[in-house]
Amino acid sequence: MTRLLDIPADLPSAAAAYASVGIRVFRVRPDKAPFANCVRCRPPTEKRPNPFYIEHRPEECRCDARTCHGFHAATTDVALVRRWWAEQPDANIGAPCALNGWAVLDIDPRHGGDQSYSVLEQRVGCLPGTVMQLTGGGGLHILYRTPGVSLPGTLGPGIDVKHNGYILLAPSVHASGLRYRWSGHGRFLPPVVGWPAALTPRQRSAA
Ligand SMILES: [Zn+2]
Ligand SMILES: [Zn+2]
Repeated sequence: MTRLLDIPADLPSAAAAYASVGIRVFRVRPDKAPFANCVRCRPPTEKRPNPFYIEHRPEECRCDARTCHGFHAATTDVALVRRWWAEQPDANIGAPCALNGWAVLDIDPRHGGDQSYSVLEQRVGCLPGTVMQLTGGGGLHILYRTPGVSLPGTLGPGIDVKHNGYILLAPSVHASGLRYRWSGHGRFLPPVVGWPAALTPRQRSAA
């Protein structure tokens, strides 16, 4: 899985392209909310009782729709991906990080992430070059292979670590109206560079 992938400009084709090279994807609404759970999978709340709910854990879901439970539904099944995006052609493309073997630095300059990044590099040295994505909101995703240990959720103001969560993939549309895109020539290469050891909490050992 090391070949450059040309990313089609339209979301349905791009989603299928990712799935076809083994990237797990799922649908995310343009406002970033995951698609809602079906009635059997939506836990009741005080405000919204749900007599149809069947209690189960997401990883044990037997739901045919397979759009429930957010990124736990992410799949590499190209036929299913085509069906999802045929239903919702404007759905953004979500990719769970850890489930795809990724750990992602999410740098948001609007919250001081560029300054935090400079401070971080002064502290641990230059971080190894790897796959990067420009978010439509002026931010940057830096993708590494997951170290297989738990990671801190943040490394400073404006620098989040996306590991247990998900990121959107190009050409998803950011809230700003601009599209995510891979840096370089807009082509995608799954990350092969490992998470920098200097960023792994010291007390942890490799799992
Ligand atoms: Zn369901
Ligand atoms: Zn379910």
